[in-house]
Amino acid sequence: WLDKPESAAALPPTAPKALKARLSANENPYGPSPKALKAISEAAREGFLYPFQYGTELQKMIAEAEGVAPEQILLSAGSGALLHATALEFAHRNPGGSVLSADPTYEQLVRAAVMHGMAWDKVPLTSGTYDHNLEEMEKRINNKTSLVYLCNPNNPTGVTMNPDTLRAFVDRVSAQKPVFVDEAYIHYTGDPKKYTVIENIKQGQNVMVAKTFSKIYGMAGLRMGYMVGQPDMLKTISKWGGGPGSLSMTTLRAALACFKDEEFIQYSLGKGLEAREFLYTTLKQNGYTYLPSGTNFVLFPIRMNGDDFTGKMMENGVSVRQWKFDGQYWCRVSLGTMDQMKAFADALKVVS
Ligand code: PLP
Repeated sequence: WLDKPESAAALPPTAPKALKARLSANENPYGPSPKALKAISEAAREGFLYPFQYGTELQKMIAEAEGVAPEQILLSAGSGALLHATALEFAHRNPGGSVLSADPTYEQLVRAAVMHGMAWDKVPLTSGTYDHNLEEMEKRINNKTSLVYLCNPNNPTGVTMNPDTLRAFVDRVSAQKPVFVDEAYIHYTGDPKKYTVIENIKQGQNVMVAKTFSKIYGMAGLRMGYMVGQPDMLKTISKWGGGPGSLSMTTLRAALACFKDEEFIQYSLGKGLEAREFLYTTLKQNGYTYLPSGTNFVLFPIRMNGDDFTGKMMENGVSVRQWKFDGQYWCRVSLGTMDQMKAFADALKVVS
């Protein structure tokens, strides 16, 4: 549950054989891209070689695209390992310190931090809009705060922060404490450059950004992610994990083949957006509201106990996840193929 909370929840042991749609782990069924698949089959034959030069090549390619120096990129087998390594570094650096984040948010970093002795200082999302309450978070910063973790767009809500407010927050707060922004889903906002805080890193601020190949590139099973930050910070974090040595020949070559494949990125995004629109319409038709999503999943309030709901959806061949916060049960459904979305729509009609 610590390393892979998403996938652990994806297929409960009681999953029926007739699972029609796995919509519980925010995977992307349109990947890996054709270019990545071709690269994998070529790379597999060279699997007896250490892939040193491909790690260096990918690091350079990503650095160039992000507009930073290669030493400002740390690669890893999935971004989750980097969230974990960051938690270990701060637990070691400030024993008894705390991580400040919104609640609910993606918990991989905070859970690792708590496991290693840190406290979790959580600030509820804003009422009604379920956005990060940045004003309250800023007030909460104290001498115990060791790291500020933000997830944008947030998981499980899908809500994207206003980019100007976020950048101004990061600008002020990073002068006092390191700020970590998890941008796993940023492509699904439709305009990653508008929402990213990599600009803050370029200005020399004490900010880290994590990104992944698991979502828009559809490579969750191949495990590839990276972090952008200041060189000294990345060097310290890499003591605890990550680095090109954790990556396979096949994954590196797949990542090199698809990272700049705009045609595939637009195709993958287009398919996601089509499924998201279908989902919005389905929810409205069944009398549900939902939170506007900048991700490849949608969160909506449900009218029964969360376990009952996910259990009934599973009986109808669809796996989804549930949350409870703000006195309400919620269902989070990932975007799949149109067939999978239709299976979700059919199941929802039966369960509602
Ligand atoms: N960050 C967020 C917000 C996520 O939702 C996930 C996985 O779903 C991750 C990070 C970790 O992804 P990965 O380790 O596959 O890069």
